[in-house]
Amino acid sequence: MPESLDGTIALVTGASSGIGRAAAKRMAGEGAAVSIVARRRDRLEALAAEIRSAGGRACIVEADVTAARAAAEVVEKTVAEFGRLDTVVNAAGTMLNGDSVSSPLQEWDRMVDLNLKALMYVTKAALPHLLDGAQTGGRKVTDVVNIGSIAGRVPNARVAIYNATKFGVTAATEAWRQEFANRNVRFSVIAPGAVDTELFGHQQQTTQEHYTKLFSAVEKLHADDIAGAIAYIVTNPRRIAVNELVIRPTDQT
Ligand code: NDP
Repeated sequence: MPESLDGTIALVTGASSGIGRAAAKRMAGEGAAVSIVARRRDRLEALAAEIRSAGGRACIVEADVTAARAAAEVVEKTVAEFGRLDTVVNAAGTMLNGDSVSSPLQEWDRMVDLNLKALMYVTKAALPHLLDGAQTGGRKVTDVVNIGSIAGRVPNARVAIYNATKFGVTAATEAWRQEFANRNVRFSVIAPGAVDTELFGHQQQTTQEHYTKLFSAVEKLHADDIAGAIAYIVTNPRRIAVNELVIRPTDQT
């Protein structure tokens, strides 16, 4: 039986759009107070208004989590506002694929900085609170859900650095899972296939066109589909740890 998230606190990065936004709404709907994190304040304000009008609790934290100090402050502000931390959803990410000769090095840096290092910074800052929450909370368990990717399991040409960051997320999540398995902090990675969000639009025009063609016959997943998977993971009773979920559109090979 799924458990309610009433009385728990969730921190969601990348909450201004796509999967993070859907996850924050869903977690709030399950009863969690949510700390919503991203750079675009107007988007966070609109989301907070939606959550509050549905009877939920939300705290806006505008931050660029690629800076270690800012990532730590995100966690500190969440705990200062709500008093504890039970769930972290690391959804902030970017995908900048393309030809490795012409791709600017800055794009590679941006993927490493956000997809891997920011996730690492937020997780590191959150861990002491999650360990504490696992002892003091009514559910006796806390969660980190990392949004990886199919690209964290299968490499492809012109995806090298995105692949490298997402393989890193898959590997770190499993290593953390083992490290904290007997301390009631669950680590899960979700590996989605194509989801209809702003992600593909981060890339250069020619790469966007490549993906539009590649997925022309695919009915992409909705961000809510991934939010549902996150809710499934974190509402499980303490004894059940969902280590990894792979979710592709039915038509995606
Ligand atoms: P979106 O582009 O819709 O969302 C990305 C989010 O990351 C936005 O909220 C953005 O907010 C936030 N973000 C970007 N840079 C920063 C930063 N420096 N500091 C804080 N927040 C930041 O994409 P998705 O929802 O699709 O992506 C979410 C995750 O899912 C990513 O890790 C992605 O790799 C992964 N994924 C997505 C798939 C897809 O097909 N869409 C498939 C597989 C995995 P803001 O700009 O306001 O800061």
